[in-house]
Amino acid sequence: MRIAVVGGGISGLVAAYRLRQALGAAADLTVVEGRDRLGGVLRTGSVGGEPVDLGAEAFVGRRPEVPALLRELGIADQLVHPAGLRPLVWAGGRTHPLPQRTLMGIPSGPDSVAGLLDPETVARIADEPTRPFRWRPGADTDVYSLVADRFGAQTVARSVDPLLGGVYAGTARSIGLRAALPALAAALDRGATSLTAAVSELLPPPSDAPVFGALRDGYGALLRALADRTAATTIRGTGVDALHRVPGGWRVDPVGEFDAVVLATPAPVTARLLAEVAPRSARAAAGIELSSSALVVLELPKETALPQNSGVLVATGEPLRAKAFTLSSRKWPHLAARDTAVVRVSFGRFGDDTTTALSDTELVAAATADLATVTGAAITPNSAVVQRWPGGLAQYAPGHTERVAEIEAGLAGLDDLTVTGAYLNGVGVPACVASATAAARRIATACADAASGGR
Ligand SMILES: Cc1cc2nc3c(=O)[nH]c(=O)nc-3n(C[C@H](O)[C@H](O)[C@H](O)COP(=O)(O)OP(=O)(O)OC[C@H]3O[C@@H](n4cnc5c(N)ncnc54)[C@H](O)[C@@H]3O)c2cc1C
Repeated sequence: MRIAVVGGGISGLVAAYRLRQALGAAADLTVVEGRDRLGGVLRTGSVGGEPVDLGAEAFVGRRPEVPALLRELGIADQLVHPAGLRPLVWAGGRTHPLPQRTLMGIPSGPDSVAGLLDPETVARIADEPTRPFRWRPGADTDVYSLVADRFGAQTVARSVDPLLGGVYAGTARSIGLRAALPALAAALDRGATSLTAAVSELLPPPSDAPVFGALRDGYGALLRALADRTAATTIRGTGVDALHRVPGGWRVDPVGEFDAVVLATPAPVTARLLAEVAPRSARAAAGIELSSSALVVLELPKETALPQNSGVLVATGEPLRAKAFTLSSRKWPHLAARDTAVVRVSFGRFGDDTTTALSDTELVAAATADLATVTGAAITPNSAVVQRWPGGLAQYAPGHTERVAEIEAGLAGLDDLTVTGAYLNGVGVPACVASATAAARRIATACADAASGGR
């Protein structure tokens, strides 16, 4: 079987690896990547001569997919966990502890947000369970509309937006409840009597288990292991510009003809490639927007007086340009052991291009000045790396789950063509691994059916 995987990000590489596992050495696998390197928005660079991730740096630890993949690939020794320090929020011109016992920053009660929010907002949260609450089962809304209505706009700006800014490079206004917080939407559908009740019901029991994991040598170690074990033909620097049905398979322009195709490209590219062969899916994918971000990695003298916290998230509406600081050398013991300190400074939220439009020099200056403001430390970088991610993250807007269902419905009946990627069922790396595994299973099943005379 000749199979093309279009897009060499983590979704495409995992799909190709799973196809190799399912179909064996005889399968003719080709990964086609538009850039001159694999990995997509995963990229490990060098800071102070040591590997540092310049895109995603971690994954959610409670999901099993990434640790399981590392074990399968024989690189489980790469798995590292954070030191367990707490993050801060910058709001009202000073730092506060990031509230605990929240669901994506939505509080389960007034206690955790006292100090961060003004007394009126705290009182409003305390009072919320007593106020009449109406929710139409199956409804969707942006996160802002629900949380600001029940808990006040300051709760959104200071507790919810800082977290959504990290996960989606979005804000509560650009992110839909049902796609980003499906368990919360389901609790409301089941008849929760208040937002407080719904959030409280969903909080996991307190646990000391690490929230995040990462790779000691960065995601590059995973990308290399996947590529080695898959042994696919890799075509880099070649963007696929069209997909056509031909007898017995697909023509992938400008690469060639294949029996089956996996599209592991971002939503707008997928929409263009599906326009002729699956127009219903193409229309739905075209409705998924992307946000852009930029990252400045600062290498600092080891003695820089950074606080004993894992990072500082910035509330929306603050007069800073950065949206978050990861104090990587505090957060990760394997980075703390190095000779210099590393801090990742993130910029860019959906709908606001003012910071991503800055030049590299301006971004480094903004990162340095804003880090000095939030830490109170003298910041004199030894070196700085700027990495831009234009269109790097999909926005899960209201109606996202319907768009994904439409994409899937439009592909029904095309068993030798499938899609995977961060725009479908979760932006995190674990969700991409799950999505790619499912995509590979669909194609492997189609190949098995074809081999046994099913088509
Ligand atoms: C700055 C940043 C930080 C993040 N941090 C985290 C984190 O800490 N933890 C976490 O779990 N997740 C994080 N994420 C999210 C996660 O990294 C991504 O959602 C995931 O890596 C996306 O993988 P993907 O393969 O689906 O898409 P991509 O990585 O976008 O891959 C798609 C690939 O398709 C290629 N392509 C596009 N068009 C064509 C074409 N026409 N022909 C051929 N190839 C094409 C692209 O060049 C790209 O390589 C972060 C994302 C960003 C941007």
